Amino acid sequence: MKIGFIGLGIMGKPMVKNLIKAGEVVLVHSRTQASVDEVVADGAIPSNIAEIGRECGMVITMLPDGPDVEQVVLGAGGLLENAKEGLILVDMSSIAPAISQKIHDKCAEKGVKMLDAPVSGGQPGAINGTLSIMVGGDGDLFERVRPILLKMGASAVHCGEIGAGNTTKLANNIIVAMNIAAVCEAFTLSTKAGVDAQKVFEAIKGGLAGSAVLNAKIPMILDGNFNPGFKIDLHIKDLQNAVNTGQEVGCPLPFTGQTIDIYRQLSKAGHGQKDHSGMWLYWNGANE
Ligand code: NAP
Repeated sequence: MKIGFIGLGIMGKPMVKNLIKAGEVVLVHSRTQASVDEVVADGAIPSNIAEIGRECGMVITMLPDGPDVEQVVLGAGGLLENAKEGLILVDMSSIAPAISQKIHDKCAEKGVKMLDAPVSGGQPGAINGTLSIMVGGDGDLFERVRPILLKMGASAVHCGEIGAGNTTKLANNIIVAMNIAAVCEAFTLSTKAGVDAQKVFEAIKGGLAGSAVLNAKIPMILDGNFNPGFKIDLHIKDLQNAVNTGQEVGCPLPFTGQTIDIYRQLSKAGHGQKDHSGMWLYWNGANE
């Protein structure tokens, strides 16, 4: 079965490379030619949305947000218009659960099956093929697709009906954002109080305050290296999707609200394309 892959950004490119390494035939499409050329050099086949719809048994999308997935799948000349019956769409983008459900229902009308399967683990996880994949949709379809998902990830968990993968991802990204906020606030305090940040990191990383976020982000913060990684603007998108979903299900999210405000201020000051660990700049010179 040929696999189509649409969206060759920070995450999409290494995911494609891992599929190819694992022996899959992958047709790719993205808007930027340089991104296409990079994965073609590794053995991907350059293509377009219509051809991918006609030729592939399974298509993976890895796009920024719901409106992008809607455009690529449901838009004029999009995947659905060109899809052969029985095509499996696995949307691995992080989008609002309600949009996953809408796209799923439109796909079902045309005999296209869909899972939502967002990921955690960041660019390193995508490069190393160790992503954590959270999946919503039909359980039998998940079992069929799982071996392919595990060529890009270390785990794939079926979380429930369509949209459940993205609901899980919202929970994930709330925890990550607040963990980053806690790390930035705590390390700003200890630094301003005169204790060396490297010593604080060494002292606490093995205790209860230790976390994957601490281990991944403190080295970047101490180096002043905010190359993405995961962009602040994309994290704003996820937190806004969490706030919207909270409103739909009657769940206030006060800390998420505060975190999104901080990220919005940074984005407004021109930091939106920096890594989300750039939240550090809120306490340490955002306007410099
Ligand atoms: P990214 O670097 O901005 O890549 C997204 C890619 O989507 C862009 O490179 C763009 O391709 C492509 N694209 C957008 N609209 C398109 C369209 N209409 N047709 C074809 N291609 C289109 O973002 P990313 O970091 O890879 O993230 C992708 C998704 O994964 C997002 O939902 C994000 O929230 C999620 N995610 C990211 C991370 C992370 O650490 N980066 C971790 C977990 C989850 P061109 O460049 O060719 O224009």
